[in-house]
Amino acid sequence: MSIASGKPMHCLSFDVEEHFQVSAFWSEARRQQWDKCESRVENNTRKLVELLAQHDTKATFFVLGWVAERYPGLVKLLAGQGHEIASHGYGHELVSTQSPEQFRHDVGKAKCILEDLTGSPVLGYRAPSFSITDESQWALAILVEEGYRYDSSMYDRFHRSENARGSGGIVQIDTAAGGIWEISPSTLNVWGFQVPVAGGGYFRLFPYATSKTFLQRLERQGAKLVMYLHPWEIDPEQPRMDGPWLSQFRHYLNLQKTQERLSRLLTDFRFGPMRDIVCPVSVMYQGKDLLVAVTEK
Ligand SMILES: [Zn+2]
Repeated sequence: MSIASGKPMHCLSFDVEEHFQVSAFWSEARRQQWDKCESRVENNTRKLVELLAQHDTKATFFVLGWVAERYPGLVKLLAGQGHEIASHGYGHELVSTQSPEQFRHDVGKAKCILEDLTGSPVLGYRAPSFSITDESQWALAILVEEGYRYDSSMYDRFHRSENARGSGGIVQIDTAAGGIWEISPSTLNVWGFQVPVAGGGYFRLFPYATSKTFLQRLERQGAKLVMYLHPWEIDPEQPRMDGPWLSQFRHYLNLQKTQERLSRLLTDFRFGPMRDIVCPVSVMYQGKDLLVAVTEK
């Protein structure tokens, strides 16, 4: 299948982590058991790579440093296929639970691991559970100082932001260390409410036809769609974890439907990596279209 030309280019991203590392099931006791849990991230990510190849689509993979250390061949495979390697930090701890020094160590360590594997600069960062908030905006200056060019961690904050809505969720933020692009996952204003339509649990919750309608509406408004999923979301066979019922509902909902929905999404819309939007100098894929979008802002 080839991508139809003429469609607007949007952003597709995956947070590469194990199913047992998600924040909803976080506990220090479980953290101590990570190396003893059944690993499924490599197989699931390879399935995503195959699906993307079938649709001739490149994406951004925010890889956890912990995963990259254990599966260096997977990171090299992704980079070799033309996907963007970005950083999900090292230890998957919420930004809000880290001191600035701990955060700097976490994002710096992950960046070094990933760059050593690919030989290319890592430009983007996404915090676990979109955990850069108003209270932890100090993190953005540290990202600039550590060499990151864009961030995609401020999902909740921008639900209510006129600034972000007006620019399709992509804004440049000034920090004490310099500017950084913020690329927030998409939300759609429906009857005055910002509805998350960008992926993850929401993509699994809504029927595909509903997601498609929302995304088409955003596309007609001229917004860049910024979508995200995780490799474990296409894995209905993953071992079940104990935890609060709401976490279980959100984590395990419609896992068996995600891969087919993603395939339809890749047929109906056109996607590329996030770096192409904010770093035109590194464009490898239909960059001119995206460069125009940036200069219009
Ligand atoms: Zn994560």
